[in-house]
Amino acid sequence: ARLANQIAAGEVVERPSSVVKELVENSIDAGATELIIDIEQGGARRIRIRDNGQGIAHDELELALSRHATSKISSLDDLESIMSLGFRGEALASISSVSRLTLTSKPAVQSEAWQAYCEGREMTVSIQPAAHPDGTTVDVQDLFFNTPARRKFLRTEKTEFGHIDEVVKRIALGAPEVRIQLRHNQRKVRDYRPAITEPQQIQRLKAVAGNTFAGDALHIVNQVDPWQLQGWIAPAAVCRHQGDVQYMFVNGRMMKDKLLNHAIRQAYGDLLPADRQPTFVLYLTLPARDVDVNVHPSKHEVRFHQARQIHDFVLQTIRQALPQADS
Ligand code: ADP
Ligand code: MG
Repeated sequence: ARLANQIAAGEVVERPSSVVKELVENSIDAGATELIIDIEQGGARRIRIRDNGQGIAHDELELALSRHATSKISSLDDLESIMSLGFRGEALASISSVSRLTLTSKPAVQSEAWQAYCEGREMTVSIQPAAHPDGTTVDVQDLFFNTPARRKFLRTEKTEFGHIDEVVKRIALGAPEVRIQLRHNQRKVRDYRPAITEPQQIQRLKAVAGNTFAGDALHIVNQVDPWQLQGWIAPAAVCRHQGDVQYMFVNGRMMKDKLLNHAIRQAYGDLLPADRQPTFVLYLTLPARDVDVNVHPSKHEVRFHQARQIHDFVLQTIRQALPQADS
């Protein structure tokens, strides 16, 4: 079973940033409002995430580390209406098969905390009492210690941390109400404050995407029941050559979707020279039944059941928000 986990780990756990992504998604699924992410040596030495979410009960700790045991998919209906970020039930199992993983948790209703430890291919999970406030800490040490070929593929500390920083940016925009702190080698690198009100949201946009965008951003809100598109786009003059600020969330998940990108580019039309890229942070919300998020394992692509209409909805909304050039 551990071997199967290790093979699966190849798909889920590409590098430290993929671990961060999976763990943070779990914390958000658990209703956390605060996350502290500690990284050491670009994640190769340690990735530790502490949250204040609902926690994992003592008798479910071992289960949480076993493959597919916890998958939320139990029927086709479920598959069609997945709204939570995680659903394959294998991230923790995969990560633990290629690292030394400690899972410590305390649900609010439980009086004491418990800790599960699991290392590499060993099948045994040992469980012991621990001290921990309400919530969960997942501590992943020595990633790929038992898969040397993969460990060799890790880039420099700086590069790997850069990937982590980017993953955390996406989450910071995707879950604006959650406070997120990110530290690297004990040094505080990011502190994203919860963004509920519009000024706070602009503040967070600034923290993630920089002043240039946030200072000039055009606010978008459009609703054509049951679809909603909101967020921010940059006027053409602020758009850069590299599309480094392009964030599209579909029901809370970050997507890099061709259809949506095409709609956005087309909305800018001639306002944008061919060598410049649109700049946007957008949130598309639609009923789960209108979208199939399970088309690609990396979950960056979606399939819309009314692709054409969605395309035009996005195109029209953005076109209307952009000041048109005088002609
Ligand atoms: P999945 O998220 O796809 O269910 P994971 O392997 O990522 O699978 O997690 C397994 C299970 O462990 C989750 O379904 C959840 O019940 C529990 N879990 C993991 N992380 C947390 C967390 N931070 N807080 C509460 N429960 C968690
Ligand atoms: Mg998960």
